[in-house]
Formats: sequence, structure tokens, C-alpha cells
Amino acid sequence: MILKENSNYPYEGYFWIINNKIVGVAAEVPQYNYDYNLNGKTHKNTWNKICNDYLVNGKQVAFDYFPRGRVMVDPNYDENNKFTDYSCLVFLDKCINNTECKNLIVSYYNLDLPSIPHIIWMMLNERAGIEHYTCNGCK
Ligand SMILES: [Zn+2]
Repeated sequence: MILKENSNYPYEGYFWIINNKIVGVAAEVPQYNYDYNLNGKTHKNTWNKICNDYLVNGKQVAFDYFPRGRVMVDPNYDENNKFTDYSCLVFLDKCINNTECKNLIVSYYNLDLPSIPHIIWMMLNERAGIEHYTCNGCK
């Protein structure tokens, strides 16, 4: 059980799931005046900084070795520019499209909020044949 210090706002960002834990980058998404601050941050350049912490058989692996995904959260407003709710879209690898991994993601990014009426879970590789969010095991 994780106690949330800040339970009002969700986060967005990108992550890997390594040994049943989220290794992620997260930015809080307030209801108003959201200033997107993940510009220029990617799986690749983040992985370059942390890859030595996640060696496989003592060796560095590429950024796309472990299953990964991305959480996108966007505030919605009514005609008076009053916040109504959040849209939430999660891109993920098919090998982590299961209840256990989804629960990890929801908890890490604080997506279990009344202001998020539902989460869209999307696996790009299932429909487009492209290798976004496809790990070593799924290739
Ligand atoms: Zn995979």
C-alpha cells in the first residue's frame, strides 16, 4: 500500500517495468496552467543515464530491452474554461497488458482518481505493425 502525499493530481510520463516494478519518469498534471515539462526527455536518453542500474547478466542492454510504455494525461474544460475531467491514454507493450502491470501503472501515475473517468489502454504494435513500445521479448 502506497500512501499518496499528493492525491489530487495525476502524473504523465514514460516508464519501463523491470522486475515487477515501475522505473519511470513522471510529471504532475494540474487541472489548470499545465506546463508540459517532459520536452526533450525520451526513453532513449533517460535509459542512457540509468542503464548501469539494470544490467542483464552483468551487461548493459538497449533502451528497448525491457517492456515499456507511456502515460498521457490531458485536462478537459467546459465552455467557460472550467476544468471538467482528464483524458488518459496509456501506450504499452502487449506483454505488460495485464491487470497486475496496469495496477502498477495506475498507482505510480496516480490515475485512480474520480477526475479520470476512464483510461484508454493502447498497444500500437498490435494494430500498426510498428515497433513502438515493443520489448526484446516481443520482437
Ligand atoms: Zn514485450
